[in-house]
Amino acid sequence: MTQDNRGDGRPGRDEAQTRPDTRLTQAGRRPEWTGIAGQPGGVVNPAVWRASTVLYDNVAHLYAARAPDADQSQHWFYGRKGTPTGWALADALTEMEPGAAGTMLYPSGVAAISCALLAVLKPGDQLLMVDSVYDPTRAFCEKMLRPMGIDTVYYDPLIGADIAGLITASTRAIFLESPGSLTMEVQDVPAITALARERGITTLIDNTWATPYFFRALSHGVDIAILACTKYIVGHSDVMMGSVTANAAHWSKIQSTAWLFGQMSSPDDCWLALRGLRTLGTRLHQHQHSALKIAHWLNERPEVGKVLHPALPNSPGHEAWKRDFGGSSGLFSFTLRDGDEAMRSRFIDSLRHFGIGYSWGGFESLALPVDPKMIRTATSWSTPDPLIRLHIGLEDSDDLISDLDSAFLSYRKNS
Ligand SMILES: *Cc1c(COP(=O)(O)O)cnc(C)c1O
Repeated sequence: MTQDNRGDGRPGRDEAQTRPDTRLTQAGRRPEWTGIAGQPGGVVNPAVWRASTVLYDNVAHLYAARAPDADQSQHWFYGRKGTPTGWALADALTEMEPGAAGTMLYPSGVAAISCALLAVLKPGDQLLMVDSVYDPTRAFCEKMLRPMGIDTVYYDPLIGADIAGLITASTRAIFLESPGSLTMEVQDVPAITALARERGITTLIDNTWATPYFFRALSHGVDIAILACTKYIVGHSDVMMGSVTANAAHWSKIQSTAWLFGQMSSPDDCWLALRGLRTLGTRLHQHQHSALKIAHWLNERPEVGKVLHPALPNSPGHEAWKRDFGGSSGLFSFTLRDGDEAMRSRFIDSLRHFGIGYSWGGFESLALPVDPKMIRTATSWSTPDPLIRLHIGLEDSDDLISDLDSAFLSYRKNS
């Protein structure tokens, strides 16, 4: 695809040959979305196109827009099918994932996950689900899919090619989340997707931690890549959104299912997400740098049992991370050696620069007590030590380290 998106009349460019940071700045900025027809020039960002009704010149045009062969994905039809603000964001996310045919947007990450699963599963099918999965995904399998006659079997995140032993004639899909967002196991994605391809099984991944910037899911054999855009894509803790990006074999099913469920994202939210996306690379590099520094620092502390960070050699699945990922983001966990629930609460309560709250991926640091023991079924979480999940934001990492240092001091004093 060659376009002139700069609006300065200079020759167009070839997206296939640009690197991710360049694509992040240019993707989705089509001239028809940033300019006015018949006028030279244009603005940098696509406008916020708010709409329900789309007006047609005449009845023939109205009929043409709803013709079954009309490509309604990026075509004026009705507000629910989107406007150029959302199309620009969807295009940009598709461009970030080589091998993708298209992207649909949803009002939350959970909506994206549930719609993607419903697009590929039907009653009688079996789903293989990673045991370290985000808890609401598990809830959807148990409370929605199971009563519909879709069986979910959970597997060890470190299973790799041994997943072959769980595949049956009714296995229709395998869901991955790598790393798991609480316990940070990195999966052997290529081993699992190679087996799935051989047997005609669809693979889906929750790629929220790495984003396509640090892990190209489709290039590693995955069919459907899901993001909670709420996290790093938006990056500012002010918008809920999800996306599903699919290869050609799965794209039309993903698109039609989202439309059947009436899923969409508001133009204002899409505009904010597009603004966030432009700085994704810069932010992720900074998150990576500070999180690594803090993870190494924690690793040396006597109060810390284990640091679960995919880039640390002892973290589960570290070898797969090293082989497959282009970097690490700002989210990781650690255990308090010989700690208990009260000590954990005291530690978190005494932090001054870390917010206490759900979600992550914004510019600010967060600390959260997490309890994987309660949500596992296929594997056990053996460490009795309490676990804390940190999101390392864009603050000065030395300030964060002194904050953690003082929290350890007050924790020791009281223990
Ligand atoms: C937050 C999160 C989701 C869900 O996203 P929402 O936008 O909050 O619905 C899904 N997967 C992972 C790994 C997440 O961290």
